[in-house]
Amino acid sequence: MDIKKHYVNGEWVTPISTAEFPVLNPATEQQIGTIILGNAADVDRAVAAATTAFDSFSKTTKADRLELLHALMTHTKARFDDLAEAMSAEMGAPMTMSREAQADAAIGHLQGFIDALMAQDTRETLANGDVMLREPIGVCGLITPWNWPMNQVTLKVIPALATGCTCVLKPSEHTPISGAIYAEIVHAAGYPAGVFNLVQGDGPTVGAAMSRHKDIQMMSFTGSTRAGIAVTKDAADTVKRVTLELGGKSPNLVFADCDLQDRVEASVLECMYNTGQSCDAPTRLLVERSCYDAVLDIAKATAEAQTVGDPSQDGDHIGPLFDKIQFDRVQTMIQKGIDEGANLLAGGTGRPDGHDKGWFVKPTIFADVTNDMAIAQQEIFGPVLVIIPFEDEADAIRIANDTPYGLAAYLQTGDPERAERVAGQLRAGAVHINGGGFNYGSPFGGYKQSGNGREGGMHGLEDYQETKTLHFG
Ligand code: NAD
Repeated sequence: MDIKKHYVNGEWVTPISTAEFPVLNPATEQQIGTIILGNAADVDRAVAAATTAFDSFSKTTKADRLELLHALMTHTKARFDDLAEAMSAEMGAPMTMSREAQADAAIGHLQGFIDALMAQDTRETLANGDVMLREPIGVCGLITPWNWPMNQVTLKVIPALATGCTCVLKPSEHTPISGAIYAEIVHAAGYPAGVFNLVQGDGPTVGAAMSRHKDIQMMSFTGSTRAGIAVTKDAADTVKRVTLELGGKSPNLVFADCDLQDRVEASVLECMYNTGQSCDAPTRLLVERSCYDAVLDIAKATAEAQTVGDPSQDGDHIGPLFDKIQFDRVQTMIQKGIDEGANLLAGGTGRPDGHDKGWFVKPTIFADVTNDMAIAQQEIFGPVLVIIPFEDEADAIRIANDTPYGLAAYLQTGDPERAERVAGQLRAGAVHINGGGFNYGSPFGGYKQSGNGREGGMHGLEDYQETKTLHFG
């Protein structure tokens, strides 16, 4: 595959821009490819193709689009291993996790959207007799991050295609290979030319040109809160719909009545999963004072047992951070935690033993943290857990909600009534109770500065639709 090309109007085209950008393997620091970062003219060409294609694709029936989605499923399954290998090489996910979670998301979300589309009425008679139609919003600009490449790409591309929209995708410039493979999958599924377009590029050039483009009606963005704000401002002059999936600093409330050994071990591992590079990772462990010392012992042992290793291998180890920028950021934050006076329980600065190259970091835990410390307030995006004691339920809820973010929250308790009561007071888009995981097809998204809108399933489809009301005389 020539990843220097972009996919526009049904074919691989030579970009108008000539700006080269290296693709690096974070475990070896070796260059594994080169892309061309597009420019505003590349965006114009892709948007023009999507605009032309919208005329006919927006008129396809639900049955037509379901048939295409089933073809997409066949071709996604056929390229499953290619997607997993690409993501492992470009962002460092260990192979087992790359297959079972990163690539699996492409299939899971697709099934969730197929089920939702089948269940959705695009014509609905309201109680007052009016008729409401759901119609595709238009040309969509889709911008995705590097940390869960296919998860994010499929949460955007599939609902656009399912609802009759056309789109231009800009994957992260750090994970362009899986994005290019996905373009091949969409092509093989038989989508008409111009319905799906891929422009590689960076945020300030291609991302901003998309956000400002007069012929794009909606921007769907996943990434940092900083860039989400830039997209929102850039999109304001053309009054686009903007949906945002942004950062998080999710609290995990541990009550003394839970199965401590099991729940604390799982909680630490979940924070370290994907090397801590998940927007909804449970990064603030809030612990009831009466079990605090026991929790510290379990957490320390779990972090010290978490192995770090080669992402090209299978296993339950964690891989490196995605690149040097992230490595430097995480090192700075660990040092900051030490300087702020938190108690370093496990890990610390520097690479783990046995790694002298690659962006590997030590699974790190800070105890005796207060919620006003930078390590408790800022998204670190590495395998770094902070532990904060609380006195009672009200104190736990107060600390949990004391954050600009509101993506997810986690709750460990043996008392089902407490679980419901506390979950109801947490300002977050999802509450995971006693290890309950995300199921494909459920809505995903955040409160407060974690974003706007919900991705996945029915709510994810509706984000890409306009409603039209028919009033009969
Ligand atoms: P990032 O914001 O640096 O980049 C994300 C994407 O935005 C990339 O494609 C980038 O090129 C583009 N971009 C950057 N600046 C832009 C601009 N000014 N205009 C338009 N596009 C721009 O984020 P990242 O480092 O790639 O990803 C990590 C962040 O993503 C974390 O904050 C994480 O929490 C968040 N995230 C959120 C979710 C969610 O669903 N809430 C999921 C995954 C990641």
